[in-house]
Amino acid sequence: MTQIVPQPGIMDIELYVGGKSAIAGRTDVLKLSSNENPLGPVPASVTAAAAAAVDMHRYPSTDHAGLRTAIGEIWGLEPARIICGAGSDEVLQFVVQAYAGEGDEIIHTAHGFSLYPVLIRMASATPVCVPEAERRVDVDAILGAITDRTKIVLLTNPGNPTGTRLPDAELARLVDGIPEHIVLVIDAAYTEYADGYDGGVSFAATRPNVLMTRTFSKIYGLGGLRIGWGYGPQQMIDVMTRLRQPFNLSTVQLAAAEAAVRDTDWVARCQALNADQRARLVGALGQLGIACDPSETNFVLARFADEAEAASAEAAFVADGILIRRVTGYGFPEGLRITVGDVDQTGRVIETLTRWRNAA
Ligand SMILES: *Cc1c(COP(=O)(O)O)cnc(C)c1O
Repeated sequence: MTQIVPQPGIMDIELYVGGKSAIAGRTDVLKLSSNENPLGPVPASVTAAAAAAVDMHRYPSTDHAGLRTAIGEIWGLEPARIICGAGSDEVLQFVVQAYAGEGDEIIHTAHGFSLYPVLIRMASATPVCVPEAERRVDVDAILGAITDRTKIVLLTNPGNPTGTRLPDAELARLVDGIPEHIVLVIDAAYTEYADGYDGGVSFAATRPNVLMTRTFSKIYGLGGLRIGWGYGPQQMIDVMTRLRQPFNLSTVQLAAAEAAVRDTDWVARCQALNADQRARLVGALGQLGIACDPSETNFVLARFADEAEAASAEAAFVADGILIRRVTGYGFPEGLRITVGDVDQTGRVIETLTRWRNAA
């Protein structure tokens, strides 16, 4: 029988594995494995989505003007230079597909987002993974990996699962060091949790080759709805728009996202909660002798003595009905990534770890 041959790279794709969401036999599971908002979705979005649902027989807007205008107003950006997608994942897919193909290289860092290699191979391009230094992005390692074939650099900042952020001066050095014919994508999914960080928008606003991506999945609590956006040079946005399906976002998605972006009080409340509980969790980890870098996100990467100890702590969490994320696939067999929860949830996490430590 003849074999139907797919495009190069496609069969090398390892399917993305998301955070677990169930424990057999338990109904009271606390899910802290996917960096979701412990307070749930923005209430204004739930109302807006329900109101929009009655019009679901109508095709949605093709240009996303309402949402782009709202984002532009709230963040002080030019709406024409915003592109919206089904999660920032889709925006990342547009940029990879637009600027790289077979024989081209795309650089990402060792502990970058595990979806990147998938997106890169979908475009038949070649992923080039560069090391990080002590769980921090290493600008020189990235610049040193650039070759004649490099088309794109994908940077997660702050990082996932490290939670660390490249200092502004280092980000500037990276931007300045990348030749202008190579695209730099700053995946800034956790911007709202990083103190004094603009997500790299100052570069996306002024450089010809820098794109910033953002999401409604984290602080806005809309991960299940799939909405993200990117901001960059007009020329790049015009290219990417050609790859965007005209109806890639539904009426319900657009309405929910527009309501979310305008609810700045909600964001401020979630930021404050996260900052408090993150500090509490980091403090408790320190007291229990569990290593952890300062986090600029809504999760922490707890580092145990070794893989066996991480597995033992994970078992303790599961026994208490708490789901956290093993990050072996991200290069941290000794790590557990724990999403920062609300006051009660963080209390549960600390109790479990304390009991586990005392039992050891
Ligand atoms: C969660 C996350 C995103 C968001 O993806 P969506 O497709 O917008 O849900 C993007 N990048 C990183 C590194 C993330 O952790």
